[in-house]
Amino acid sequence: MDARAASRSGRGQSPFSALTAEKTLHTTSKATPLQYTSHPPGAPRRTSNGYTCWQSISSPDGVGLASIANCAEFGRAPLFDLVFLGTAAAVPSAERGLPAVLVARGPSRFLIDCGEGTQRQLMRAGLGFRGLAHVLPHLDHVLGLAGLLATFALYRVEGTMEIVGSEETLGFVRRYLADTIGPESDGGYRLRAISPGPVLVRQGWRLDAFAVAHRGTESLGYRFQDEPRHPLLSERLDALGVPAGPERALLAQGRSVVLADGRDIVPEMVHGAPVAGAALAIVGDTEEIAGLVEPVRGADALVIEATFLERDAALARARGHLTAADAARLARDAEIGELLLTHISGRYSPEEILTEAARHFANVRVVADFGRMSVRARGDVVSS
Ligand SMILES: [Zn+2]
Repeated sequence: MDARAASRSGRGQSPFSALTAEKTLHTTSKATPLQYTSHPPGAPRRTSNGYTCWQSISSPDGVGLASIANCAEFGRAPLFDLVFLGTAAAVPSAERGLPAVLVARGPSRFLIDCGEGTQRQLMRAGLGFRGLAHVLPHLDHVLGLAGLLATFALYRVEGTMEIVGSEETLGFVRRYLADTIGPESDGGYRLRAISPGPVLVRQGWRLDAFAVAHRGTESLGYRFQDEPRHPLLSERLDALGVPAGPERALLAQGRSVVLADGRDIVPEMVHGAPVAGAALAIVGDTEEIAGLVEPVRGADALVIEATFLERDAALARARGHLTAADAARLARDAEIGELLLTHISGRYSPEEILTEAARHFANVRVVADFGRMSVRARGDVVSS
């Protein structure tokens, strides 16, 4: 019996088992300031910007991390979902796996880094494997790839995994996978070398890579960016008598509607000024922040390493890593919305790391394995 059949029969704990809200809600030490969080499928939630959303996180077949196709009342899905699968630095611990974070935008899922043991973290998170088409590993965060691909083959997960990275990273990955899983031609994966610049352009959003300095390697960081959009003005909608439901969804998509009383409503009558789209920046290992200010500028969330504390700054320099204070100064200088610190060394407590970072940038948290959050634009609010 394969895994999906086992799941349908309800036998055992399958990686394709359905998620529950209880399983998926994990909090870190700070209260979330983000406007969206996961909540039970079908349960409407009114967010602080006035939207009602239904963010289904049920995924019986493992296809969707967070099906947000029907999330926003106005028929749009302007957010990126994050699941932290591994938040340790060089060595795992009982609480922290080796680096990996899953990013989802609608049905598109990306694994940023794939440290050893990532496949089991995916199972423990209840995420399943399907739809995981893109992996973007940093050079020394790739050792989970062989096991993940082996399991894909055993479970007969459809599709080819695209592994994206610099030429240098892929050179190592090519040798490593050829000796374990097999060559690219029949290993269920495809290697795609990229340079700083566009990686993927999709309707309404894009993914770009930027150069990251780390011990002379060809390392990359990533920026997920929504296009700007025109929010609907709820007061004008109410004043014009546009009912909640499909009419508002169509107007949000830029289409005109005819109300029951025959009046035509065109989008320009209810659209507000354009607002920036959500932006999420993710930086793996790095040793300096000056070159990162512009690539990550204005991001609503920045995920970045904080391997050392200032008292070990010399060690941080020697090993090509940041201190928590470095990461926080970058967040401050680049006007980040929220700073999410990861790549956590066992030599410090999360509280120490948080305290050091918070001296320079207030909206910061140290993330934990299986922590989840959604990132949306700070300016994305409905007002008249
Ligand atoms: Zn690392």
